[in-house]
Amino acid sequence: MEAPLASAADIPSVDRLLHRPALAPLVARHGRAQVTSVLRAHLDDLRRAALAGTLGRSALTEEAIAPALETKLSASERPRLRPVFNLTGTVLHTNLGRAVLPAEAVRAVVEALTAPVNLEFDLDSGARGDRDALIEELLCELTGAEAATVVNNNAAAVLLTLSTLASRRETLVSRGELVEIGGSFRIPDIMRQAGAKLIEVGSTNRTHLSDYAAAIGARTALLMKVHTSNYAISGFTKSVSVAELSELGRAHQLPVAVDLGSGSLVDLTRWQLPAEPTVRATVAAGADLVAFSADKLLGGPQAGMLVGRAELIRKLKKSPLKRALRVGKLTLAALEPVLGLYRAPEFLPQRLTTLRLLTRAPAGMKAQAVRLQPIVQRALGAAYQVRDEPMSSQTGSGALPVDQLPSHGLVVRAVKARRGSLDRLEAALRALPRPVIGRAADKALWLDLRCLEASDEEAFEAQWSELRL
Ligand SMILES: *Cc1c(COP(=O)(O)O)cnc(C)c1O
Repeated sequence: MEAPLASAADIPSVDRLLHRPALAPLVARHGRAQVTSVLRAHLDDLRRAALAGTLGRSALTEEAIAPALETKLSASERPRLRPVFNLTGTVLHTNLGRAVLPAEAVRAVVEALTAPVNLEFDLDSGARGDRDALIEELLCELTGAEAATVVNNNAAAVLLTLSTLASRRETLVSRGELVEIGGSFRIPDIMRQAGAKLIEVGSTNRTHLSDYAAAIGARTALLMKVHTSNYAISGFTKSVSVAELSELGRAHQLPVAVDLGSGSLVDLTRWQLPAEPTVRATVAAGADLVAFSADKLLGGPQAGMLVGRAELIRKLKKSPLKRALRVGKLTLAALEPVLGLYRAPEFLPQRLTTLRLLTRAPAGMKAQAVRLQPIVQRALGAAYQVRDEPMSSQTGSGALPVDQLPSHGLVVRAVKARRGSLDRLEAALRALPRPVIGRAADKALWLDLRCLEASDEEAFEAQWSELRL
């Protein structure tokens, strides 16, 4: 028996429907304006179906319309910024928000959001305070620097440095250090934006101290070193150390600034991680200013840190750009407890999320992979083969670029290699309630378990029943 068809004239009015009891709870929850707009769009759809001769009468009852609206309203209210599972194997993944913060930092952010705070208010004197003062002392203690300030990110720290110290004058940088980070940060571009003239010294693979010395002239304002974060040059190479460059700077009374990129507040080799220059060692070697990110190896919120000589930091803080690039209270709230963790470095691998992930033992990840393999295999079905295999993760965000960390995870391959089957699988994983992001390579999908902590495993297991392949 065919369902009775409706015509466009049978479609009830928006006004009449809005007053029906089935829609009342929707109006109470989502507000009249949103329900009206979704209802209008829904009735337009019904009208089109009626004109095409495909609209059944049953679709016109309020009992049919209300749930359809509810589905659309919930979908439109779902947050756009959502938690995902980062199984890419890149711990500090810029596209996935870089460092995940420890619980102390999250608590501090919630408190700072919930109540007024002494952001720029000196509780001792009752006078106006300086927001940087909240973390300056801690940063100086951890780096050995005289003074410190903080801005929106490391790109901002470099921009502020160049604009304040080298505007309309020359900055010397080695050709081997004119790097691009993640497509949007290029040293020559930042230099231009800051109004500083870039003087390239040396060659791509070799730069000597004499190259800098020869380029110093009356218009030179700054000597700069950039940590070549995301690539390495090997072979016949030579670069000038911070100590050598600082000595040259002192002889000519020119400040030396170092963009350390990730930089680290502790020596990572004590946990068998690849060496990365520490901020303290860079300051000790004589750098006058050191800029670094707070959300890379440091493991904190997005921010750019600047530490160095008091007189230079004072100049930076007086620049109008500093006001434009300053951080908000949420950043400072998160930063303070993260920096605090560095006071007890021996506990960092437990307490600092980033370091905990970087130092995970492959054996633990292997056990996890063996446990999860049957669950994922069952969910993906016979068209895919899921195996637990060793793999390599990376730190990411330009830190420790060459060295890879031994890791373990699941590798998914299509049993019959049909075109698009891996793309389909990736799309299905992204459509899960908490999207799963892996890494496609060599005709397989690699799910690196390094960033799946035990506390997340239950949520990870629970959602496979919702996979729609
Ligand atoms: C990452 C990086 C930057 C940019 O830092 P953001 O905090 O992302 O702005 C600048 N310089 C170097 C050397 C870097 O590694």
